[in-house]
Amino acid sequence: MTTNKTKIDTLVVGAGQAGVAMSEHLSRLGVPHLVLERNRIAEAWRTGRWDSLVANGPAWHDRFPGLEFDMDPDAFAGKDQVADYFEAYARKFNAPIRTGVEVRKVVRNADRPGFTVDTSDGVIEARQVVVATGPFQRPVIPPIAPQDPRVLQMHSAAYRNPQQLPEGAVLVVGAGSSGVQIADELQRAGKQVYLSVGAHDRPPRAYRNRDFCWWLGVLGEWDAETMQPGKEHVTIAVSGARGGHTVDFRRLAHQGMTLVGLTKAFDNGVVSFEANLADNIARGDENYLALLDAADAYIARNGLDLPEEPEARVMLPDPPCLTRPILELDLVKANVATIIWATGYSVDYSWLQVDAFKDNGKPRHQRGVSSEPGVYFVGLPWLSRRGSAFIWGVWHDARHIAEHIVKQRIYFEYRDAAQRQADREAATQSASLMGAR
Ligand SMILES: Cc1cc2nc3c(=O)[nH]c(=O)nc-3n(C[C@H](O)[C@H](O)[C@H](O)COP(=O)(O)OP(=O)(O)OC[C@H]3O[C@@H](n4cnc5c(N)ncnc54)[C@H](O)[C@@H]3O)c2cc1C
Repeated sequence: MTTNKTKIDTLVVGAGQAGVAMSEHLSRLGVPHLVLERNRIAEAWRTGRWDSLVANGPAWHDRFPGLEFDMDPDAFAGKDQVADYFEAYARKFNAPIRTGVEVRKVVRNADRPGFTVDTSDGVIEARQVVVATGPFQRPVIPPIAPQDPRVLQMHSAAYRNPQQLPEGAVLVVGAGSSGVQIADELQRAGKQVYLSVGAHDRPPRAYRNRDFCWWLGVLGEWDAETMQPGKEHVTIAVSGARGGHTVDFRRLAHQGMTLVGLTKAFDNGVVSFEANLADNIARGDENYLALLDAADAYIARNGLDLPEEPEARVMLPDPPCLTRPILELDLVKANVATIIWATGYSVDYSWLQVDAFKDNGKPRHQRGVSSEPGVYFVGLPWLSRRGSAFIWGVWHDARHIAEHIVKQRIYFEYRDAAQRQADREAATQSASLMGAR
């Protein structure tokens, strides 16, 4: 039986980048709060991903406004450097973070404002709850995954390094930033790799001396508030690995990787692929070239002196796997010993027992302000804009949410004339009692 009961104005659940940003803004605005983190600060960066992961954006960009990385600003921080950065950031303003405490249940109080929160270390009463538990919680493996004991299967969340895998070829399903980086690493380690490529965007790593993060910034794309229609299932393939480079599927194929279309089904040890590889690569090229065009137009319009880069438009010849795509692969004959599912994540809000979700289980909110008063979400993709789930973007969303909390506190603390009169009388009475002592 727990006896430990704490009262706090605002409880933040999770101390990844979203929770740290939230705490900074609440501290700045003088909102009493507590951040509970079941592991350590920025644990997802420290242990939740593969060993060689580096940030996808350069250090000057993928950071909060108040602190720079202690490294070359154009380089890409390693995952531990990113985790260290958030720890240092939290120390900078003495963030009230308690680590090793899990939030197990949140319910709205029936007879008074706020929420009762069950944690692994007692019960907390909170007026507001900010959910900063991240967009990438539960690895998703699609139901088509075969029950085949001959093949080792893992989600990209469980992949650490090539030495972890048995001898033999690897099928990597999914060619977003995780899938393409893992496939590249495995191929460089000498593995035969099949990479299943779906719809993707693949911006140039850099163009005319500017990183694509800069281009998306000046072209207003990080701030886009709605996803282009039809882009819901389009992943983004970028990489900061080995100093950063453009993801070029043709180059990967010329280096020996076998590209295949979207993985369709497994039947009796045979995997089949959609006949959409060429189309997916073509759409990715279109996206790549559109960014070059937009960048050229921006340079011309603003009269910038940035060196021309015509070679960025030169495409390698189509490799055989693109012109004569494989539609079926017998896993045993192809010696495929491992399948890595780089197929994304979902969220888990089973602990959050409030009326804040749509029928599809997604949070119902406007810029992170939930339809359930007092509940907030921060760090989700497209929470307010394209940049919302990225390091710098979450900081701006957290500011909006902290300001909303302050506004609500002002409303809540409002006293009408009768209440103010009662307050004055109580103050006078208590002063005269003090005087009589
Ligand atoms: C492979 C990969 C690479 C990425 N690379 C980049 C990049 O280069 N640049 C970039 O800007 N973004 C990148 N992102 C996206 C995003 O920045 C990260 O996913 C980031 O970790 C999200 O931060 P967050 O704080 O929202 O969530 P998380 O970092 O996941 O933090 C949430 C925290 O909540 C805690 N938690 C969850 N449930 C509870 C509970 N019930 N009680 C207490 N604590 C709880 C967790 O332990 C966790 O520490 C990447 C994402 C992935 C998957």
